[in-house]
Amino acid sequence: MSYHANEKGYYGEFGGAFIPEMLYPNCEELRQNYIQIMEEPSFQEEFNQLLRDYVGRPTPLYFAERLSKKYNTKIYLKREDLCHTGAHKVNNTIGQILMAKKLGKNRIIAETGAGQHGVATATVCALMGIECVVYMGEIDIARQAPNVARMKMLGAEVRPALSGSRTLKDATNEAIRDWINNPVDTHYIIGSVVGPHPYPDMVARFQSVISEEIKTQLKEKEGRENPDYVVACVGGGSNAAGAYYHFLDTPEVGIIAVEAAGKGINSGESAATSALGKIGIIHGSKTLLMQTDDGQITEPYSISAGLDYPGVGPLHAHLFKSGRGEFISITDDEAMTAGLEMSQLEGIIPAIETSHAFAIFDYKKFKEDDIVVINLSGRGDKDLNTYIDYFKL
Ligand SMILES: *Cc1c(COP(=O)(O)O)cnc(C)c1O
Repeated sequence: MSYHANEKGYYGEFGGAFIPEMLYPNCEELRQNYIQIMEEPSFQEEFNQLLRDYVGRPTPLYFAERLSKKYNTKIYLKREDLCHTGAHKVNNTIGQILMAKKLGKNRIIAETGAGQHGVATATVCALMGIECVVYMGEIDIARQAPNVARMKMLGAEVRPALSGSRTLKDATNEAIRDWINNPVDTHYIIGSVVGPHPYPDMVARFQSVISEEIKTQLKEKEGRENPDYVVACVGGGSNAAGAYYHFLDTPEVGIIAVEAAGKGINSGESAATSALGKIGIIHGSKTLLMQTDDGQITEPYSISAGLDYPGVGPLHAHLFKSGRGEFISITDDEAMTAGLEMSQLEGIIPAIETSHAFAIFDYKKFKEDDIVVINLSGRGDKDLNTYIDYFKL
């Protein structure tokens, strides 16, 4: 079985490009060129140089001694929290801004919910001196003021989406409308392994630097390239796709995906797509998504804004359906407790998204000599107010 996208962007039965006809030329231009561009030596050289000198790669693979002792196994943390802008998202936006330049685009659009992807996009646009418009739901603009300020500081224009629920999906609609109207000069930077082909595959390839580095670093530290398990939280699934990528075809490496159960899988306030999702089409891709019996997309919920997405990328739907990945759902309370524990055992305050991945030890037992790599997708500075309110700090 293959865990990589085929030519049409399918992972098993999931993926593809379900797009309005007016978007076809834009996606087709990208589809026809992305692999060739990514394989050009000049592209790779610039990408790798920016990852090194601007993002700060390679990020360390850190042996978490106290955490390992507590759970009686060997835990390594892949420190994506140390990337410039504080999370893995910038690996992808660096790749896509270079792609846009190669395609001759001089304007970037993006949509953002919590604002993290908006900030990562505004950052690389500033770096390259390229115009940047970020669509964001009016409600999210009010909820995420610090990230809105960051985007403006970086020179981006933040355009409010005023229709519907005025959140992420409405911002997505506005971005798609913009792209239809500006097919020649504009590139749309999607922030996770979601959307129509070729986005899931392209974003996974940009993020695959994470597992490429894990292999080299583990070889140095343990004398072998492959861990027994690699663990990551899944919103759309980009940090997970990057952490799994070079292990997908190595069945000895267990793949663990951690989703947000919110207030509980059956509470009606959840984002546990593998547990609750059914096959459908979201954001131009056939995948698992949370929906009502008549196919309306259900509003997801998680305490962590980055996991608050009603679907998962098609790769993850395939990993779930095929059994290659083991999916675990973690509630808000379990994640918050794990985030506090992580802070006090290792001196690292994780993003609440990442805290979900640290909460698996009640559900999954590892052997003493297992090597478990957890992708530490981002740092918790952005979540400090949520931690403060929750723990009454
Ligand atoms: C955005 C974000 C996520 C979720 O996005 P994926 O595409 O699933 O990786 C996870 N962790 C952090 C820190 C994030 O900012």
